[in-house]
Parts: sequence; structure tokens; C-alpha cells
Amino acid sequence: MKLFKQANVYAPRPLGVKDVLIAGSEIIEVADELTQFEHAGVEVIDASNQILTPGFVDSLVHITGGGGEGGFVTRTPEMTINEAIAGGVTTVIGVLGTDSITRSLENLLAKSYALEEQGISVFSYTGSYHLPAVTITGSVTRDIVLIDKFIGIGEVAIADHRGSQLTVQELAKVASEARVGGMLSNKAGIVSIHVGDGSKGLSILHQVATETDIPLSQFYPTHINRSDELLSQGIALAKAGGYIDFTTSTNEHILASGEVKAAKALAISLKHGVPISQITMSSDGNASLPIFDDSGKLIDLQVGEVRSLHEAMVEAVQTFDVPLPDALASITLSPANILQLHNKGRIAQGVDADMNLLNQDSLAIEMVVAKGKLLKV
Ligand code: ZN
Repeated sequence: MKLFKQANVYAPRPLGVKDVLIAGSEIIEVADELTQFEHAGVEVIDASNQILTPGFVDSLVHITGGGGEGGFVTRTPEMTINEAIAGGVTTVIGVLGTDSITRSLENLLAKSYALEEQGISVFSYTGSYHLPAVTITGSVTRDIVLIDKFIGIGEVAIADHRGSQLTVQELAKVASEARVGGMLSNKAGIVSIHVGDGSKGLSILHQVATETDIPLSQFYPTHINRSDELLSQGIALAKAGGYIDFTTSTNEHILASGEVKAAKALAISLKHGVPISQITMSSDGNASLPIFDDSGKLIDLQVGEVRSLHEAMVEAVQTFDVPLPDALASITLSPANILQLHNKGRIAQGVDADMNLLNQDSLAIEMVVAKGKLLKV
């Protein structure tokens, strides 16, 4: 058992100064004072002057590496456990991406199990950018029902020259397969959507919702901060009931070409009245960050970083005046709820003991606890 004393708890809603008691991998009590537990066998950790938050949930990471759009030499490396811990990420959602030829779902699953053994929680998506989807069992529905790690499919690419140039019917069909898989196994069955910079933007998602029986909330589109135009479309999508995710990994080239910083996009969306429950940020860690010229030729490629998730949360608070509970929710409670990870993304009795202790002034990460184990001090 471990007792965190007198922490300023954001659950992510502010709870005030509390003691938090964990036993094994679970939070068993949150109360004003739990001095009765200060006895032999309980490790007492003074957390006064620190902010205690849920462990961060990073809803999109290429844990086995991604990219390769500039040839084999541009393949990006795997995410390491140290990268997750340094970024306060205690739950990660692994995805394939552009390359489902030299990278496989079998490898993604093996990496998921490895990271679990190293202490964090991992879920993943079957499929990749492309349809028909790559799967393990031969069907998207069977993959989600029968393979415990798989909670949906993705990231399926739309509005992107690297995607499968899907029709409304093709996208609706795979969404239905994921939806049924989710229902049968009590999982989200969500369709993670990679949105490229193509001119059609999010229109196919509205078409699916209008022309078929699949609701907008079946989709979880990411990279919505790619441009001002896509952000406007994303805010409209959220107001119609959809979810939107902003990518925190970036660089000067991408920002110069029109990307909106994730922290700023979060602030703008909240100002437009989008509920925080429909907004998330993810790192797109270990993705390639390709830069194409006007003719579509690759001219530069960098690697996404998981730690950008925490950095964007801090930037949202310190630079764009987003309230701390909202900034935290975008990387804890909101993604956990959208992905139906009921024991993740919050501080409460009975949930998994995934927590970060932050410096109360700088919001720097000072301690990471995942499934009850201290991973960084
Ligand atoms: Zn993507």
C-alpha cells in the first residue's frame, strides 16, 4: 500500500487537498485525511505542494514505429517505455499507420504485451490506414471481439493521398463491423480516423452519418489542428455530436505550413462552446512527420514524440489560458471515456492507480505511478 499525503488533486476536476491511498494496482480511498493508514507496511509519500493528476492517456502512438514515406531509410523507431514514462503517459493506444506491409498487427500486439510487462497499460487498433483492413483473424469484428488488446480499428485514412480513397459505403461498412465488435465485447469499437490535408476534409464522416445508420460518434478523427480550415470543420463536427482529436507532435515546418498548435486549437474549441468531453489531444508519437512540397514530393521527415502530450497540456494552461481541469481532461478523462476505458483517466476510488505528481508551479512531471508502481521519482 502507498499513501500520498496532502496532494492538490485534480481528478481531473479539482478536489482540493486530499490523501490518496492505493493498494496493489488500485486506488482504494481518496479523503481529506487518511492518517489511520500511516503504519508499518504502508509507504507514505509526502505530496504536499504537488498536483496529483490521473496518468495521461495517449490515444494515438505508433508504438512499433511508423512512416517510411521517403523509403526504407525513413522508417521511424519503436516507442520505448522510458519515452512513455518521461511524458507521464500510463495508458497508450498503439496503431500501425501508413505501412501495413513491413509492419504487422502481430508485431503491434507483441509490443503491446511488452509495454504492459514494463508497467504501463496498452490497448491497440486493428487495421491500418487502408481498407480492406489488415487483421489477425480475417475480420475486423472478430479481431475486436476475440483479441483483448483491440478496442477498435484505425487509423483509417480519409482526405489523404496515402489513404484508400474510400467511398461512403466502404467507410460505413467498416464502421459497422467495428461497432458490432465493440458491442459484442463491451469495448468502444471506435473507428480512429486519420484526416489528411485533402480538400474534402471531414465531409465523408457527415455523409456516413446522414446517409447510413452509423452515428458520428462512431468515429474518432485525429490531426484536426492540421489547418484553420480543418479546425473549423472539426468544431462543426463536434457541435453535431462528433469527437475531435488534436495532434501535439509538431515542428516549425508544419506550423509554418498552417498547422494550429494543439494547445491553441483546444483553447479555440472551448471558446466556441465545444464540450471538453468531445475534445482530446494525442501525441502521434513515433509517427513520421513528413513534409511534402506543392507537387507532393517528400522534402523532410521527422519523428513524433510522446512527451509532446504533456508539453501541449502545459502550454494550453500557461500560454492559451485553458483552465487546468480542462487541459488535463483532454489527455485523461475525455480519451478514456471515448475509448470506454472505465478504469483509466480519473482519480477515484476503485479505478487503476495511474497517477502523475506535477510541480504545482511549473507543472513539470515529478513522479509517475502506473498500476500502483512508482516509475519515476
Ligand atoms: Zn495519422
